[in-house]
Amino acid sequence: MVDLKGQYEQIKEQVDKSVLDVIQSTAFINGPEVHSFQKELEEYLDVKHVIPCANGTDALQIAMMGLGLQPGDEVITADFTFAATVEVIALLQLTPVLVDVEVDSFNIDPEAIRKAITPKTKAIVPVHLFGQCANMDEIMSIAKEHDLYVIEDNAQGIGSSYQFANGKTQKTGAIGHVASTSFFPSKNLGCYGDGGAIFTNDDDLAHTIRGIVNHGMYKRYHHDVVGVNSRLDSIQATILRAKLPNLDSYNNARRAAARKYNDAFAGIKNIITPKVKGNNCGSDENTICDTCNCHVFHQYTLRVIDIDRDALVKHLNDNGIPCGVYYPIPLHNQKAYKDDRYNEADFTITNQLVKEVISLPMHTELDDEQIDFITKTVIDFVNQ
Ligand SMILES: *Cc1c(COP(=O)(O)O)cnc(C)c1O
Repeated sequence: MVDLKGQYEQIKEQVDKSVLDVIQSTAFINGPEVHSFQKELEEYLDVKHVIPCANGTDALQIAMMGLGLQPGDEVITADFTFAATVEVIALLQLTPVLVDVEVDSFNIDPEAIRKAITPKTKAIVPVHLFGQCANMDEIMSIAKEHDLYVIEDNAQGIGSSYQFANGKTQKTGAIGHVASTSFFPSKNLGCYGDGGAIFTNDDDLAHTIRGIVNHGMYKRYHHDVVGVNSRLDSIQATILRAKLPNLDSYNNARRAAARKYNDAFAGIKNIITPKVKGNNCGSDENTICDTCNCHVFHQYTLRVIDIDRDALVKHLNDNGIPCGVYYPIPLHNQKAYKDDRYNEADFTITNQLVKEVISLPMHTELDDEQIDFITKTVIDFVNQ
C-alpha cells in the first residue's frame, strides 16, 4: 500500500546524517530538533502553536483534555473513520455521538451533526478522511451557532487546504479551535516510528496543552493538572524536518497518481472514483487540481457497485496487489462503541459504504507501470 523504502532512498543522505547528528548530540528528548520542527510546521501550516506529542491518538486525547471537556459531555464525530477518534472520547468518559457521513466525500455530514446536537453537546470532531477536508464552512458555522468546540482530526489531511465560500483559504488543522495529527510512517507526513502533534491558534489553550503533555507541569515538579507523558523524540523530529520541505511535492505525487487512476477507471460501469467535494474552488467533482490543494489523497478509495467487493480484494491479493478496506465495520456497530440510542436508520450511508469501499495502493513512488497493472487487474475483474 505504501513504499516507504523508495521514498527514503530519495532523502537518504540527509536523513542518515541528521539522525547520526542527533545520536551524537545525545539530545534525544525535547532537543533543538524538536523545537525547530515545531517552528517549521507552525510556519508551514500558518498556525500559531504546534505542540508535538507521541502519536495521533494521544494528540486527540490531549486536545480534548486541554479544552476541559468533562465526563458526560457529548462529542459528535463521524461513524465512518478510524477508531482512534471515538476511542479517546470514550476513554475520557465523554459521550461519543456518532453520526452519518456524506456518500460522495466520505466526510461527516453537517445535516447529521445538526440533528445530533443536544444541550449536552460540547464539541464536534470532523475527520478529514482520506485526505479531503470536511465541510468546514458548515461545521464552523454550526459550532458558532451552538457554542461548540471544533477539534479537527487531521491525521489523514496534513498539507491540504480548505477554501471557504468567502474565498479565504486555510490549511487543514489551522481551522478549528484545536487539531490533531499523526506522523505514523504511512501518513502523508510520516516519521520512522510514532509521532503526533496538536495545533491551535489559541495562546491560552496552547499553554494548557504544553503542560498536559508533560505530566501537568507548568513549573518543574509542580503538577497543576493531571497530565500525560507524550513526547515526540528528537530522532523522529529530525526525520520530519527532512520530509516537511517535500510535503507539497509528496502530495502532488499522490494527486498525480490519483489522476491516473481516475483516468483509467473513467467510464467503467460499477466503479465510482473518489469525488473532490470539500472545497469551494469551483472545479468539478472529478477534477483533481493542484492549485487549490483540496485533496491530498491519503487514501485512493473507490466505491464498487453491484460487485462482490471482498472477491475483488481477493483477486487483487492473488495478483500480488495490496489493497485495503477502510473501514469494514461502522463504528456504531463495533462491540466497544455500541449504544442503545443509535438507530440503524440514521446510518444508511456508513452502512452502505462499508460494503462498497476499496482503497488501492497510494504513495509518492507509484509509477505508470504499477498503476497500469493495478487498474487493469481491477477492470479485468469488474468486466468478467
Ligand atoms: C492514523 C490516525 C489516527 C491515529 O494516529 P496514531 O499516530 O496511529 O495514533 C487518528 N485518526 C485518524 C483519522 C487516523 O487516520
